Amino acid sequence: MFFQRTLKKEISCVGIGLHSGVKVKLVLKPASAGHGIKLQRVEEGRVMTTIPASSDFVVDTSLATTLGCDGFVIGTVEHLLSAFSGLGVDNALVEVHGPEVPIMDGSANPFVYLIKTAGIKRQVEAKCYMRMTGTVTVTDGDKWARLGPQPPSSNASLSIINHIDFDHPMIGSQSFSFSFADVSYDRQISRARTFGFLHEVEWMKANNLALGGSLDNAIVLDEYSVLNEDGLRFADEFARHKVLDCFGDISLLGMPLIGVLEANKTGHALNYKLVQAALAKTEAWEKVTTGEWLDSSQPSFTVPRLVMGEALF
Ligand SMILES: [Zn+2]
Repeated sequence: MFFQRTLKKEISCVGIGLHSGVKVKLVLKPASAGHGIKLQRVEEGRVMTTIPASSDFVVDTSLATTLGCDGFVIGTVEHLLSAFSGLGVDNALVEVHGPEVPIMDGSANPFVYLIKTAGIKRQVEAKCYMRMTGTVTVTDGDKWARLGPQPPSSNASLSIINHIDFDHPMIGSQSFSFSFADVSYDRQISRARTFGFLHEVEWMKANNLALGGSLDNAIVLDEYSVLNEDGLRFADEFARHKVLDCFGDISLLGMPLIGVLEANKTGHALNYKLVQAALAKTEAWEKVTTGEWLDSSQPSFTVPRLVMGEALF
């Protein structure tokens, strides 16, 4: 049996909004079992709206994932949601004191650090998973994303396989395969930063976007090279960041996933389409708690590894 998780205590940070360029305070708070991840837009101390991190509340996926409710939006939620999803945190309330979640260093690692610093608490209620039994595919030209069941012989958990292909000497064709059994989300995924091309950054700034964007919070490439002085954190940091984004995007399913996600050249928009298609195709999945399902089927189960040797059971 695997149990729901929340934070041990409240924790906060301040960072810059990527698109707005404004300073934003973020407060992560524990929440009761069954609460899920919810974000609150706070203005001058007043809660304007509370938005569940679910696909029903996605209002834009063009530059980042934006959630909206009651006429208020919260932008750039994807890396924070990725950190919760990658660490298996089911329940939290997040105050966002501004229009978007701060970009921090362009990866999910600062959020992982915050969550680890607050501590992760096991709750008494069992986790409820969405377990794929069939396949769901979405396509857009040569881009595609597919959700399917785990092969019967493998550990019953989540795998993410991501392929990218950029006509750029520093990127080219890259793939990264993640499974909780083999790869540490914390060390090998969460540190991978978002990336962009200099001509896009210049265009965005000219159009009042990415006002907070800098070499401190993104990998920026010109035609031939990486402009960041310290270079890359991983040779395949680009593909790893796409896996990081997938963690955030699939958390919009509203429950942790047991299955295989394979994505080719996708971004937030197509990943979101996949989430919507999967939720609509109810014959392709079932809701399970690990206890009841483990007893009757596969021999082992892997879930997000906690940090510092914290017990999983
Ligand atoms: Zn990203």
